[in-house]
Amino acid sequence: MWQEALRAGNVQSIHPRSHIMGFVRLEINMEFSIINNNGQQRRASICTSRGHINTPAFMPVGTLGTVKAMSPEELREIGAEIILGNTYHLYLRPGIEVISALEGLHSFMNWDMPILTDSGGFQVFSLAPFRKIGEHGVQFRSHIDGSVHFIGPAEAMKIQGVLGSDIAMAFDECIPYPASYEYAEKSTEMTTRWARECRKLQNYGQALFGIIQGGMYKDLRKRSLEDLLFIGFDGYAVGGLSVGEPKEQMHEMISFCASLLPADKPRYLMGIGDIGDMLVAVDAGFDMFDCVMPTRNARNGTLFTSQGRISIKREEFKFDKGPLDPDCGCYTCRNYSRGYLRHLFLSREILSMRLNTLHNLFFYQDFFRKMRDAIVENRFRAFREQWERVFDIRP
Ligand SMILES: [Zn+2]
Repeated sequence: MWQEALRAGNVQSIHPRSHIMGFVRLEINMEFSIINNNGQQRRASICTSRGHINTPAFMPVGTLGTVKAMSPEELREIGAEIILGNTYHLYLRPGIEVISALEGLHSFMNWDMPILTDSGGFQVFSLAPFRKIGEHGVQFRSHIDGSVHFIGPAEAMKIQGVLGSDIAMAFDECIPYPASYEYAEKSTEMTTRWARECRKLQNYGQALFGIIQGGMYKDLRKRSLEDLLFIGFDGYAVGGLSVGEPKEQMHEMISFCASLLPADKPRYLMGIGDIGDMLVAVDAGFDMFDCVMPTRNARNGTLFTSQGRISIKREEFKFDKGPLDPDCGCYTCRNYSRGYLRHLFLSREILSMRLNTLHNLFFYQDFFRKMRDAIVENRFRAFREQWERVFDIRP
């Protein structure tokens, strides 16, 4: 009966201590262990039934059941240990009935390592052309065909259950910038109520992270975080940053939130993938990141290298026989010249997107490998300064 109730999500009413403890721990296949922390930066490991994730970790974004231009084998080869799937996009296309019939997202896309799915909240608020927010969720029009849909905490948990991700995210509203205190407060309180609902409906065997909101108001961030801690999640994410606020404000909020987050759970900074921002966040103690930056930039011809950013279309590379990045060990850099990559890009060849994406994702994974080593060897500060010089970032 206990197991059945757990599967049905009806755990709150049958546990004798539930009224005191908040929610009962569900049996989940995830363990978080800190290997090393020198100061605030953490070198840790998340162990799931589908594999280990060494942190700090970067998660390539696989919006529609594919990390654009990459095969799962290539992702494995460059060292990706976890990827992100978008609930909103997969729900609209191909639809959960298709993914359910084809046995979940891992099987559907032939990726047997960990997957984190977002809740769909961010895309509903940023992509849908029309939306109406209510207590139980959001009614919206599809950005594809204008059809009307509804996603709230219950739907987000159900969809993520069908997708079968290893880590699910609670449904939230990403507060736009700027926002009044009154709006931010109301929205944050609703996100907390939605988080509680998601926690009640947590899928068996699936880890669930809560998302801290609060806009640019420290007291609201603190309250959001304390409320989520009371509910109790397997990990904690900070959302609603990099939404147009000045960098200094973003960095201040990153450090502020990190200082309040519990040490024994993974900390995920959502949607931030700028090298300088990630250095600030890892320095403050964040463990997980995702961003379309390496993949989207690759398709636009902007490449990350040990010498900074390169726009491959530039005239100066026309006769360049050298590799894109002499310090990079990726397939692209081992086999092709800058001159050839420039030609592929200008000719809009499919191979351009493939080779550029391969390089950028390899660069990100390699950057994180080196960063993890730097933390263990107690030289993160020097590592941060070195890369801030390369990317011309002023601290
Ligand atoms: Zn490379």
